[in-house]
Amino acid sequence: MFENLSERLESAFKQLKGEGRINEINIATTVKEIRRALVDADVNYKIAKEFTDKVKDKAIGEKVITSVSPGQLMVKIVKDELAELMGGKEHEIDLSGKPTVILIAGLQGSGKTTFSGKLANFLNSKKNKKPLLVAADIYRPAAMEQLRVLAEQIKVPVHIELENRDAVAIAQNAIALAKQNGNNVVIIDTAGRLAIDEAMMTEVANIKAAVNPSEILFVVDSMTGQDAVNTAKAFNDRLDFTGVVLTKLDGDTRGGAALTIKYTVDKPIKFVSMGEKMEALDIFYPERMAQRILGMGDITTLVERAQAQFDEAQAKKLEKKIRANKFDFDDFKEQLQQIKKMGNIKDLLAMIPGVGKAIKDIDISDDAFKGIEAMINSMTPYERANPDVIDTSRRKRIAKGSGKDVNDVNAFMKQFEQMKQMMGMMNKMKGGGMGMPGMM
Ligand code: GDP
Repeated sequence: MFENLSERLESAFKQLKGEGRINEINIATTVKEIRRALVDADVNYKIAKEFTDKVKDKAIGEKVITSVSPGQLMVKIVKDELAELMGGKEHEIDLSGKPTVILIAGLQGSGKTTFSGKLANFLNSKKNKKPLLVAADIYRPAAMEQLRVLAEQIKVPVHIELENRDAVAIAQNAIALAKQNGNNVVIIDTAGRLAIDEAMMTEVANIKAAVNPSEILFVVDSMTGQDAVNTAKAFNDRLDFTGVVLTKLDGDTRGGAALTIKYTVDKPIKFVSMGEKMEALDIFYPERMAQRILGMGDITTLVERAQAQFDEAQAKKLEKKIRANKFDFDDFKEQLQQIKKMGNIKDLLAMIPGVGKAIKDIDISDDAFKGIEAMINSMTPYERANPDVIDTSRRKRIAKGSGKDVNDVNAFMKQFEQMKQMMGMMNKMKGGGMGMPGMM
């Protein structure tokens, strides 16, 4: 994410290397480079200029602290200003309605339907809500079907009226239904067009007037840069939305939309979407995003993702098995699945400070696990539960079944054994002294 911008900023800070303190002269090049980096990241020139003027004023006014180098000081100032530009603090969505009605708007292809599913999943699993999804895109039966499939996947009810050509009526019917069925959030996925068009705007505005939503979230594809910002302006003029959702941040986006949308429409970014998986949704924290841009990683989000997947009962069960040295391939597979649920692997690694830059050119896809999973899947349930029985002929069969080489299976078995040995050693260390008294 924003790799080019990160690199350019880093090289801008390097200009200050060896300087004892910041002054008008030595800061000039750095400031100019920061401004260029922002403009190249698709930040509008006026905003970039205003940004660097602020950074410069702050840097020159800053007290000199001997333990902090001018370079470090600039990183801190730029981080604070980036966070400020993106909205300062996070903004929760308002869930106080009865039911809470959330209208989702944006261009076609921006990621509205995907986000609607993700939001329902988020509210259901993290906020203990009972959402109802509503397909109000009456022009594309495929969009309705897509929402139905997502809803099924995340086990959330969905309201669809294939024959009804009145989006306002569908939304109203859905709200009545939600009240009947005890759904406390109604998420309405509306139609989009490839470009802003009057009929679409009127329709969304009519739905808004009819259902009085507590949140109108404008979904925008962050890959579209300045266009995203202009579209946001047009939608905001018409809808006066309550928040922005940036999608496709997992892609190769330059950063312009994330950096300037708040400034331009004065509405907070509430969520960021980073992938097609239903779990790949994060609340937007300007401070954390600024840290990531500056290569400081984002440990907080990483820990939160891990916590979200953490299942106490399962962890206890696993601990017991490890203690009894009974960790098997079923446990292994379960662990892999948990990691995968946390999100895209490269994205996860990039949250560790310093790692993002190191792995930016390496192709790490989620497919990395596929081979391992294929091998485990080719084992019989008996083999999975009893790894010791997997002899040469069984290995050959597993290799064949998974489309792998016997050497791959051997290497994997060896790694698994080593892992088990490590677990055994850790058990002994924890059990400290319980073994044989008097032996020391
Ligand atoms: P809609 O027309 O606005 O409802 O957009 P969709 O939800 O159908 O999304 C359009 C395409 O973008 C689909 O192929 C989605 O899978 C994909 N998509 C949506 N959100 C993301 C995201 O955060 N990251 C990536 N990589 N793809 C996304």
